[in-house]
Amino acid sequence: MEENAKILTEEEAIQQEFQRLLSEYKQTAHRQKIEIITKAFNFANAAHKGIRRRSGEPYIMHPLAVARIVVKEIGLGSTSICSALLHDVVEDTDYTVEDIENLFGPKIASIVDGLTKISGGVFGEHASEQAENFRKLLLTMSEDIRVILIKIADRLHNMRTLGSMPTAKQLKIIGETLYIYAPLAHRLGLFPIKTELENLSFKYEHPDTYAMIEQKIAADKAARKEFYDQFSAPINKKLTALGYQFVLTARIKSVYSIWKKMSTRNIPFEEIYDLLALRIIFKPKPDISEKEQCWMIYSAITEIYKPHPERIRDWISTPKANGYEALHVTVMGQDGQWVEVQIRSERMHEIAEKGLAAHWKYKTGEHDESELDKWLKTIKEMLKHPEPNAIDFMDTFKLNLFASEIFVFTPKGEIKTLPQGATALDFAFMLHSDLGLRCIGAKVNHKLVPLNYVLKGGDQVEVLTSKKQTPQKEWLDFVTTARAQSRIKAYFRREERLRILQGEKALKTEMGKLELPLDTENLNKLLSYYKVLSKNELLRQIGYGNLNLSELPKALIKPKQENIFLRYLKRPFTSSNSNNTNTATQVTTTAIPPKEHNIILTEENADKQYQLAPCCRPIPGDNIMGYLDDSGVVIIHKRQCPIATKLKTNFGSRIVTAEWQTHKLFSFVETLEIRGIDKMGVIIEILKIISGKYSMNIKALKVESEAGIFTGTFEIYVHDTEEIKELCENIRKIREVNSVQRIEKQ
Ligand code: MN
Repeated sequence: MEENAKILTEEEAIQQEFQRLLSEYKQTAHRQKIEIITKAFNFANAAHKGIRRRSGEPYIMHPLAVARIVVKEIGLGSTSICSALLHDVVEDTDYTVEDIENLFGPKIASIVDGLTKISGGVFGEHASEQAENFRKLLLTMSEDIRVILIKIADRLHNMRTLGSMPTAKQLKIIGETLYIYAPLAHRLGLFPIKTELENLSFKYEHPDTYAMIEQKIAADKAARKEFYDQFSAPINKKLTALGYQFVLTARIKSVYSIWKKMSTRNIPFEEIYDLLALRIIFKPKPDISEKEQCWMIYSAITEIYKPHPERIRDWISTPKANGYEALHVTVMGQDGQWVEVQIRSERMHEIAEKGLAAHWKYKTGEHDESELDKWLKTIKEMLKHPEPNAIDFMDTFKLNLFASEIFVFTPKGEIKTLPQGATALDFAFMLHSDLGLRCIGAKVNHKLVPLNYVLKGGDQVEVLTSKKQTPQKEWLDFVTTARAQSRIKAYFRREERLRILQGEKALKTEMGKLELPLDTENLNKLLSYYKVLSKNELLRQIGYGNLNLSELPKALIKPKQENIFLRYLKRPFTSSNSNNTNTATQVTTTAIPPKEHNIILTEENADKQYQLAPCCRPIPGDNIMGYLDDSGVVIIHKRQCPIATKLKTNFGSRIVTAEWQTHKLFSFVETLEIRGIDKMGVIIEILKIISGKYSMNIKALKVESEAGIFTGTFEIYVHDTEEIKELCENIRKIREVNSVQRIEKQ
């Protein structure tokens, strides 16, 4: 008899909860599909019959609570309510997704399927498992955002009832909540849910601190009430006089955000002055835009209280990415205390509370799910073709989601998994070894970044390559993946062998010309002359072009000192060894008309045989000419240099033609003048290209700004004109940059 009474009460409680759900649903503007909701409830109720939650409640109370959150706190319709009611049926009972589909149709079945797939939690035991679960989460979300919204509701209820869980389980759930669900709720614009999730996590993680802050808030309550009444009274009066219909509410900072502020700023509770905010929710007057009315209310308030000039947040002109619209202003209250005032229309308020799900309602005024579906499609598109916007959307996932792995996108939207800390170069090697070996940089979210750029989750990465590129030893310092490491090392092993062979060939050719054998005696002479320790090292250095083979006679035969210019004139005009350009370190003379002297400018003969004129300071790639001075050194001028012109006219016979050879070691200071629109971050963009992409050093930098236009003078170390040209081209690609000019010394 008693047993019966208890069952009856429980059943009554269940029915009562269901009636609450229905009445909340009826209060919404959704189409009234009571029948299918009732069917879903009855089905779930029967399926979970006899099962209890850890708290001792009948299991069905959980799906019912989730469904109520879905309708009341998120504002979703019948499809989501049914899915919420059914969300644990496949996971916990013998029913299958097919059963759900047969009874409730494909839409509800696929949502339940998505919810079942991610029911295991995102944090598995292993990194790979986490990655897989995260992928599932992304995919199910892209298929139907309602999956995530219901999942958030599910999580919220689990958090509200967390007390009955064992501590270890609690901590795991809290971890996930703070890592994924709270940021997700934030991103989807579900502010109250986000706040509650954070608060509950904090409460279970730091119960003592939570209680302490809660108690302090309570202690201040009376004083705060008095302050609020005083503060809001004149606003109330003025807005009423202006004919507005509105609601004023006091907003108290959540325990969690108070604690966050206390811990990040390292201040005690008593020093948090923005505990209280005032919110104005107004019913817009017809014929005036909501935006205008927000500003009208703003000026009404600032006639009473002085606004803080730097604390106006206009999210009306540019709503937040998650849809949030409002005008926030901070004003000085009677006691000199700053108070934030949030101004919102009723529509803005609903969006702020229920997130983007509330958007469709206002879009057409039709209470139809198709608008929501359209919005879901755009989310899906965003995930498929991530744009800067979509990256924004993925931002939430960046927040320490994974200690060990991140997800990035190819330009085509494929998801790739990389270890955290991986660079653009790692990504290139992951796609293909050739891409890695030829990688010169990357575009991340459409912006140029250097090879060593550390990728973040959600980045969209496009690899940039050049046929001219070869791997550098420094690369090993910043690649983090084993794949990239091994490919780069393999390249250098191969390269080393090749250079040794090249060096050997070059040395033998030169020795042959001198008709000298490469025997031990000569080899030892060479080792001591060039100061290298082994034959292999000698050949390697020759292979890399680091040793000047034109010094062979000196090393082996003991040369006579002679005037460089005389030696130069005595040397027969032979054509340079063109297949040996990498190691062409000797002063060669090319076939040129007689009487005209030619000098090849290499790095080795710099200063000894030629000097760059200080007046015009030419750099490799510039059109140049040489002037043979009295000491036999050729002074190199730019062709257009006025001094060179004078020399040409007066000392024609001493004019030497000159050609640059590739310079890679020496760098030269050049000045670039860059003009453009002075937008925040533009100088950083330029610097990123200069010092990031090209790893160029900057000697001096001066930026002036006037009337929104900046003029930057950058003194940069470069190797040649080619580099300047390429650099200028890349800087010009920055949208805000109008002109880039090399300032040439005349
Ligand atoms: Mn559940």
